[in-house]
Parts: sequence; C-alpha cells; structure tokens
Amino acid sequence: MFWDKETETLERSALEALQLQRLQATVRRVARKVPLYQQRFAEAGLKPGHIRSLADVRRLPFTTSADLRATYPTGMVAVAAGELLRLHTSSGTTGKPKALFFSRTDVDNAAGLMARCLTMSGITRRDVLQNMMTYGLFTGALVMHYGAEKVGCLVIPAGPGNSERQLLLMQDFRTTAVHVTPSYALYFADFLEKHGIDPRKDLALRKAFVGAEPYTEETRCKIEQALGIDVYNSYGLSEMNGPGVAFECVHKNGMHLWEDNFLLEIIDPQTGAPLPDGQPGELVLTTLCREAMPLLRYRTRDITSVIPGRCRCGRTHRRLHRITGRSDDMLILRGVNIYPQQIERVLMSLPQVGRNYLIELEGLDEMIIKVELAKAGFDGQVGHLVQLQAQISDRLRMELLVKPKVELVAPGSLPVSEGKAKRVIDHRTL
Ligand code: ADP
Ligand code: ZN
Repeated sequence: MFWDKETETLERSALEALQLQRLQATVRRVARKVPLYQQRFAEAGLKPGHIRSLADVRRLPFTTSADLRATYPTGMVAVAAGELLRLHTSSGTTGKPKALFFSRTDVDNAAGLMARCLTMSGITRRDVLQNMMTYGLFTGALVMHYGAEKVGCLVIPAGPGNSERQLLLMQDFRTTAVHVTPSYALYFADFLEKHGIDPRKDLALRKAFVGAEPYTEETRCKIEQALGIDVYNSYGLSEMNGPGVAFECVHKNGMHLWEDNFLLEIIDPQTGAPLPDGQPGELVLTTLCREAMPLLRYRTRDITSVIPGRCRCGRTHRRLHRITGRSDDMLILRGVNIYPQQIERVLMSLPQVGRNYLIELEGLDEMIIKVELAKAGFDGQVGHLVQLQAQISDRLRMELLVKPKVELVAPGSLPVSEGKAKRVIDHRTL
C-alpha cells in the first residue's frame, strides 16, 4: 500500500524541515547557474542566505510560462550539457511549446514519484497497465511508463487512438488498468457499447488513471459506470516532470501532492497574495529536487484548493481538490465569467446526455453548445427532444447566468481528439 512509507507518512514538522533544506539548496543552485534568476535576485536585492524559513518562499520571484518561452531552448538549464538525459516539451495547449530537460536523477525521481502514485491506488507488479497516452515529446506517456516499470507491472505502450487495437490488446493481455484522458475514456466506453462488449464481463479492467485535462466529478462517475471500474484522478504538468505530481489514493478524496518534491502555494491569481487551505486559487509550485531545470514559484494557472485535514490512508502530504479549470481557460460572455467546467458539470449530470460536447462562441457574443445524446436517451419522439433541449438550457442558465443556445446532436457525431480534448472553439468577431 506504500511505495516509500517513511517519506509518505513523514510528520508535518519533519516534512517541512526537509522542504526547507531542499528549497535552500534549490535557491543556491539557481543563483549559481540560471541567468534569469540571477537577474531577478539582483533586481530584488535577494541573496540565497535570505531564505531562512518556508514562509520566505514569498520573497522569491514567480516563474511563468512566458519566462520559459523567453528562455527557450536552453536558458533555464542548471546543469552542464553532458548531464542532460532527456528532453520533453509541453503539449502546447496554450501556445508555442516549452522545452523541459531532465538529468538522470530527474528521470529516476519522476519514475519514483509515479511508482508511489500507482502503489497508492493499489497497483502491484501483478497488474497489466495499458498506457493510452501519447508517446513522444509529451511527458504524459513516458513518465507513467517508467513509473509503472519501477512498480514492476507489465506495461503495454499502446499510445492513444485505434480503438480496435486497444480492445484487442485489452482482451489478449488481460489489461487491468489504463492511463487515459477523460475524453478518450468516454469515447472508448461508447466504442465498447457499439461493439457489444460488456467491460464487466468481457474485460479484466479494474482501474483507470485519468488526467491531462480538466474534467468534472460527474465525468468521473460516467466513466466509472460505463466501464465498471475505479477512476483515479492524476495531475501533473510537464514543467514539474509531467504526471505523478499529485494523485488519488484508494479513498479517491483529493490528490496527494508529493510535498517532499514540490513546495505548494495557493495564491490569488490577480494579486499574488497567499490563500489559506480550503480556499480556491492558483496553484504555484517550486521544484525541490530537480537538477536539470529547477523552477521557483511556477505559476501553473490551474485553479484548485488544498483540502484541509488528514487523509484516512495515513499519508501526510496534503491533498488538492480536483482542478476546476485554468485561470486562462475562463471565457467572458456578455461580461460574465464562465469556466467550461461549469458547463460540463451540468451536461454530465443528465442521463439523457451522451459523452461528448462542444462549446462554440460566435458572432458578437453568442454561445452555442452542441451536445451529443446518449444512445438510450432518445425514444424518437421530437417532443421529448424539445423538452430536453429546454431543460438543458434552463439548467445552464441557472449555473452560468447567461442562456446559451443548445443543439442536440446524434451520439458519436462530434469530433474526438486522441490527445487533449478541444472543448471550446471561439469564432467571435469581437
Ligand atoms: P500544456 O500546458 O501544454 O497543456 P501539459 O501537457 O504539461 O502542457 O499539461 C499540463 C496541464 O494539463 C496542467 O497544467 C493542467 O491544466 C492539465 N491537467 C493535467 N492533469 C489534470 C487533471 N487531472 N485535472 C485537470 N487538469 C489537468
Ligand atoms: Zn490518502
């Protein structure tokens, strides 16, 4: 049940002492090696010796994705070229890619954290893990792959897409767990249904590790019910190794963030002020163990909160609430702030709604939401469709305070992406 019990259950005071020691070492390292931090420290009159307590982290400058782009390709590297072992780039959902470097220690650490995550959700060497994330420059698949190998399970590097082949692999090699995006998991559930496969009877599948894009609790339930499995939320970002930063234990009540490797802060995204546990804000992370590319106070843009209190599993590392969106995901429609997650929550709570949707913004400020019907959700009576359409737009109006136009479309008719889902298309002429 534990991969590294001693570290995972460290008492708070010991954990914080370890964090401080690692923070100080990281600050000393970047002050010696990284020109961007040298310049920022000089501007602020800051010396590594000024960091005497964990609270002093607030004296350090933030790092943003714009900084990573400005220093592309190697400006943030803190080791000699011969020490670099691997390059990843971020998948570039929000612009041009960022280059992320790993040393040998970084590769090992990332795999070790992933092994902790998998063990925490009950994976053992007897499991068969089908990795349905994109292999390549993106961290998602490789970091999971190395972590699962460390645990000792049989890893199938399937990559995404080609559902026929996925199914064949699952049947022939008795796959027990998959690593997948929420959008592809839903699509795959549809695919099984279409082919008359009952996952509860015909497959050995028990668990899915789902992440890489925001999704709601309602979507988790949908995937769990459709596939008859447990879905564990998995959070990570390339700047912090990729997956394995925060993960759910068997209790599925928030994601333990590995605080011996990352120093976490939640801040008000507008003012930068720190927020207490329980309050939602932007997640800011400082790497504590990274050699090749240490980052101070990295602005993830992800909105979450720390769940107060201890988890029943005994781990002392604090838990993050499900990410409710990115601060740069927010849509502004007729002056109202809207997160796509709010729309998803409403849609996925309705049994008549299928597994895919698309938000389109048009004209001056119109929102059109295309919603796939569930297969069993339509009895062929047009009157019922009109009723459902009205029900969805009413619920959305209550949630969003603006009334979008809702279009119901046939199951399986909206585009599906193999990697991260593109849920919002903005054609506005504003
Ligand atoms: P990019 O920023 O180009 O998408 P990444 O591939 O590193 O690059 O993606 C990391 C981002 O994916 C995170 O910052 C977060 O927004 C999103 N993400 C990853 N896992 C989850 C998750 N479990 N829930 C919500 N969002 C997630
Ligand atoms: Zn736990």
